[in-house]
Amino acid sequence: MSVEMDLQCFSASYAEARDKFLGAAARRGLQVRSHLHPLPGRDGERLALDVVRMGAPEAANLLVISSGCHGIEGFCGSAVQVDLLRDDDWHDRCERDGLAVLYLHALNPHGFSWERRVTHENVDLNRNFRDFDGPLETNEDYQAIARLLVPERCPPTLASHAGLLWHALRHGRKAIQATISRGQQVDPNGLFFAGRGPTWSHLAVKAVMQEHGQRCKRIGWVDIHTGLGPMGVGERIYKGPQDAASLARARRWWGAQVTSAEEGNSSSAVLGGTLDQGVMPACPQAEYNGLTLEYGTLPGRVVLDALRADQWLACHPEAPHEQRLAIKRNIRAAFYVETDEWKQQVLQQGREVMAATLEGLASPLGS
Ligand SMILES: [Zn+2]
Repeated sequence: MSVEMDLQCFSASYAEARDKFLGAAARRGLQVRSHLHPLPGRDGERLALDVVRMGAPEAANLLVISSGCHGIEGFCGSAVQVDLLRDDDWHDRCERDGLAVLYLHALNPHGFSWERRVTHENVDLNRNFRDFDGPLETNEDYQAIARLLVPERCPPTLASHAGLLWHALRHGRKAIQATISRGQQVDPNGLFFAGRGPTWSHLAVKAVMQEHGQRCKRIGWVDIHTGLGPMGVGERIYKGPQDAASLARARRWWGAQVTSAEEGNSSSAVLGGTLDQGVMPACPQAEYNGLTLEYGTLPGRVVLDALRADQWLACHPEAPHEQRLAIKRNIRAAFYVETDEWKQQVLQQGREVMAATLEGLASPLGS
């Protein structure tokens, strides 16, 4: 059964999304703690990771709902957060003993505002939560196609496309997806760059969890993304400890359709340095239950081409105005489907997943 959703939860810019989030929190009487980003936004606005918490400091169960890990994908996650904050029924259900809810709005506010997937350091935040003490990952497979992925010319020449296609045919589509998307440390101007040190957003998330994640016994975390999988479908991708019991628990909470990149049934490749890998060691006392809620947009090839062009643009600030506009239009369309139908699907599934998470956090600990 589908319920009519308030599509006004969606916004046309980061600034508008932030206003709606702060407004919705204020109407609930919830305080906001803003971690201010050092750089301005695209329209000169202030950028921040905004944190709203409801519930007692000593609550055993902590529900975390985060948006904008991948900047531009925040249009979707922000709307889900605003929808929840505006929902009286949801709010009533969250007001129970032993539960606190943490809303993290725009983990990567710079990317959200400038409509890029990466941080201002050109880093994929969801590959950046890694140990930087060890040697850098070489990822020779990525190196072999780096020039084809982000070529000198845009649009890429036929030879670049053909080169990529040849690699895909030779190694298989799944293998090339993994090579491209699992994260690389060899090319700071390339795609899915994992960084060579913690980004501003990485440190901000760690600071938030130092403040809010040290006293709970259990965490249920839903991190909202877009850009992978069939249009409008919210894939429930497991993120957390890689043992059978934890994955089984995730399926009890969120259903048998929970996918796992490690099992090979997800539209995502196995990734390194994801958010959960930063949070779990930062909150070692807590049982961690994590989900990437990943909404499909356009076909994978279209999304990848939009990312390639956007990266080319970042490397070529001298690009003509018209070309810049076209590239920015395409990347926005690749991560934010501005139709009523898609928005309705996003909110509907968002509510379902959050309700399931709430239920999971009400089950006996360790079950
Ligand atoms: Zn994402």
